Amino acid sequence: MSATMPVPRNLIAGEWVEPAPPTIDVLDPATGEVVTRIPDTPADGVDAAVAAARRAFVYWGEVSEFERAKLLHRLADLVRGDLDELSRLITVEMGKPIGESRGETAKLADAFDYYAEEAVRVYGETIPNEAAGVTSIIRYEPVGVVGAITPWNYPLELIGWKVAAALAAGCTIVVKPSEYVPSSAVRLFALLEPAGIPPGVANLVLGADVAGRALAEHPGIDKLAFTGSTDTGAAITRSLAKALPTSMELGGSCPLIVTASADVDAAVAGCLRRGFRNAGQICIAINRVYVHSSVHREFVDKLTEAVSKLSVAPGLDDPDVGPVTNRDIVERCSEHVAAAVRDGGMVTTGGAPLDRPGTWFAPTVVDHVPADSVLATVETFGPVVGVTPYETTEEVVAFANGTDAGLAAYLYALDLNEVFTIGHALEFGNVAVNNPDAGIMNAPYGGRKGSGHGYEHGREGLRGYLVAKHLRIKYSR
Ligand code: ADP
Repeated sequence: MSATMPVPRNLIAGEWVEPAPPTIDVLDPATGEVVTRIPDTPADGVDAAVAAARRAFVYWGEVSEFERAKLLHRLADLVRGDLDELSRLITVEMGKPIGESRGETAKLADAFDYYAEEAVRVYGETIPNEAAGVTSIIRYEPVGVVGAITPWNYPLELIGWKVAAALAAGCTIVVKPSEYVPSSAVRLFALLEPAGIPPGVANLVLGADVAGRALAEHPGIDKLAFTGSTDTGAAITRSLAKALPTSMELGGSCPLIVTASADVDAAVAGCLRRGFRNAGQICIAINRVYVHSSVHREFVDKLTEAVSKLSVAPGLDDPDVGPVTNRDIVERCSEHVAAAVRDGGMVTTGGAPLDRPGTWFAPTVVDHVPADSVLATVETFGPVVGVTPYETTEEVVAFANGTDAGLAAYLYALDLNEVFTIGHALEFGNVAVNNPDAGIMNAPYGGRKGSGHGYEHGREGLRGYLVAKHLRIKYSR
């Protein structure tokens, strides 16, 4: 085990505690070696964290927005000051290229700054009443104690969006990070005290599904913010202790449409970035590509050439593509490619796991994937893209909308008619046209259909941690 990993402990009410013996191995996906071992916090450890957050909420909700903003700005600065080590820990446990980890950590700091600024811009309303001498005021108040459960693909950002918005809103929070990537979270939570954030405002519990279930089912939380797989999101929804607000950011299986009018080179560059960045392990990764038959050959040839040139190496060497994070991803990539080939698809580059220690899958393009093949209907969450030619606009909209995924879709088209017709018809929460970046910090980011509900980012992201109060005041007799 590496001597440079932080001690894996829970942070509860500002104290570091060991809730149980460490039993869960955390691996470096580039080597398969154990880098640390964490406890699976039992239910009583989660109780303690929720109780600490409840106690802290009594005063944190009353701290002025300006003071909360100041502390979040300080936290942003501390994250920037610790960027090297936070980023290294992401790469060691998750595998992504170190340059991408540095980008993630920088964006985490930006999220704290963004929500610090939004904290002081939560405005209410005054509403006219039919009766004279009566006024109605709408106030936005913090929802209370938040439970947050996060996945492994963006270990810091997906915690940060929740912590930043919750704290800006005046909520307190208990975070359970993914058991695959705990150490960057431990290091991040060590920055809370120097930032001046009071004990108990943000608490950390380590573990896997025991801790996750105990938190999701806890009667003491007022909101649950979950990012993870569609299946786990559905399981959690069924097991909630009470009817409470939730935000669920679930799986994607995102389509890219390349029309006859597209700039094909731009579409290839977009597909390369959004299909293979983070080894395709992004909820908004391009997984299935629908290309008009008139540009299909050109697109596939150019994409194949570009993908075959991607460098694949351990993340600390900063390649284009690192290892995939765990064995499940290798297996799912293999299954989806094999099924696509059985269904008539053709691998044009990659197509198999790489034979080295750790968990690796070659960046892969499969052409002529039938629209009902598993590769074109189920999220792969790995470095695999399937291409399907199409003929008509109606057909491609039906392909894109034909799964339960509704998180993000991509469209490359220069014909304005196509941009608006297809852009409006897509049943997705985020549609990026002629660019591969569907999410920005100040726009609402959320899914539809099986991809979940609720928003992160933007004002809507903050609103999810606030509840409206209608204060109706009669002031004259
Ligand atoms: P991913 O594989 O994308 O991380 P998962 O849905 O498996 O997606 O995990 C997301 C988070 O949910 C992780 O922190 C995991 O430990 C947690 N988790 C897994 N199963 C459960 C469960 N039944 N209840 C609550 N949390 C869970």
